[in-house]
Amino acid sequence: MKEIVLASNNKHKIKEVNEILKGYKVVSMEEIGYKDDIVEDGETFSENALIKAKTISEYLKSINKELDVIAEDSGLCCDGLDGAPGIYSARYAGNHDDQANRDKLRKELKGKDKSAYFICCLILYHPDGTYKEFVGKTEGTIIDEEKGKLDFGYDPIFLSKDLNKTFGEATEEEKNNVSHRGRALELLLKELGD
Ligand code: IMP
Repeated sequence: MKEIVLASNNKHKIKEVNEILKGYKVVSMEEIGYKDDIVEDGETFSENALIKAKTISEYLKSINKELDVIAEDSGLCCDGLDGAPGIYSARYAGNHDDQANRDKLRKELKGKDKSAYFICCLILYHPDGTYKEFVGKTEGTIIDEEKGKLDFGYDPIFLSKDLNKTFGEATEEEKNNVSHRGRALELLLKELGD
């Protein structure tokens, strides 16, 4: 099976990507021995994805491995907050704490437009330094009550327009079919020709 490196150690993302890219063995940063933190100091999702992809591709080169790299940056953008939390989604309340992020978001959105979308910018980066970007988006509304599984980001308060339930209540398959990451990965699959 062909290997492809996902520039992430987030177990939810690795699982989602593995399920969608069925013909590939998706390998995490940890599995290739990359231990440092990557400073994501870009100003857009796209810049951050590129920083991750380039860093991992250069690391692979340094250990004499020629593999394609997928890197993605994703987040939640709320209309009532001019696109926030956006690129700061993971650390909105300061410390990568999903519960604190959700609590802060619900508080900030009181009395404001609750429409929101998740976006995923995904980059396929080749060992020769060329790359392609794929963007997936999914729309919904932020609700006050948490519904479903509480273990990934904003899932329990994101009421999906496509599913008419929160991402926390959806099965993995239901979420993957309509999610920002699922949609970006579908475009990637077309590019890979599978
Ligand atoms: P990243 O790891 O820098 O791309 O941060 C993405 C952050 O956006 C995550 O930590 C979550 O807070 C949020 N996020 C992105 N995708 C999802 C999703 O599918 N469900 C819930 N939250 C998500």
